[in-house]
Amino acid sequence: MIDQLPPLREVIATHDLRARKSLGQNFLLDLNLTAKIARAAGDLTACDVLEIGPGPGGLTRGLLASGARRVVVIEKDARCIPALHQIADAYPGRLNVIEGDALEVDPLAHLTPPIRIAANLPYNVGTALLTDWLDVPEWPPFWQSLTLMFQREVAERIVATPGSKAYGRLSILSQWRCTASIVMDLPPQAFTPPPKVRSAVVHLQAMPDARFPADARVLREVVAHAFQQRRKMLRSSLKRYPGIEDHLQAAGIDPTARAETVCLEQFCALARSLA
Ligand code: SAM
Repeated sequence: MIDQLPPLREVIATHDLRARKSLGQNFLLDLNLTAKIARAAGDLTACDVLEIGPGPGGLTRGLLASGARRVVVIEKDARCIPALHQIADAYPGRLNVIEGDALEVDPLAHLTPPIRIAANLPYNVGTALLTDWLDVPEWPPFWQSLTLMFQREVAERIVATPGSKAYGRLSILSQWRCTASIVMDLPPQAFTPPPKVRSAVVHLQAMPDARFPADARVLREVVAHAFQQRRKMLRSSLKRYPGIEDHLQAAGIDPTARAETVCLEQFCALARSLA
């Protein structure tokens, strides 16, 4: 027992929170598991935690029980809001519930640094938010760390290294300014209802500076073009850039190489040359 609140199955029955596919709802009902995910987010005691998509509140309760100073949640499904208010009553002054779409709401006005982010989100929303959080205009970003549930296949793309099938745009953008690791593996049965695929929790820690200097916009663009046709030689997939062969050579990259063999340091050197 991590708290005195009713078990999640009871919460779901009381508030009639039958999972909706349209909202990507696969709930975590084991509070020991959600407490474990909360611990993977790091020391929360001096932090505000932003949680996206709390649903019936399993992870929210894990975060609060792990000592988070304050938790701010954004949930799109109005049916979940009364259940979340019940949690707020059990943790006075520590839970702020916002009803809305995380892709539209700006939570920054509700948060005080240091800020950590944790979420178990539908796959498409999770990847869109991750890309936004990695692509903030200022670095270090407003958050210290991201602890996010993904399909195992997406988690592998985030931590992949050159030469592997999973290596691509997401690997480079994640690892350029963060340390990224898979901290937990979850089988479909951990969720209600079970999804079709395995899931994994990824923890990304923002580094104070990028590993290698580069202009964020140029790096993002060149990496996107390079991996759009990942089987092509770079001199051909990047031919939109005038003088690309010279730029590749200046960056120490063989113009006949393919994107999947080029490391982060070389992509940063290429972005600098192109800038
Ligand atoms: N965090 C809960 C858990 O672990 O049991 C629920 C996880 S469920 C996979 C995803 C949650 O995100 C659902 O509660 C869903 O309603 C919510 N959600 C989906 N799209 C959202 C969006 N755009 N903004 C905010 N919440 C969203």
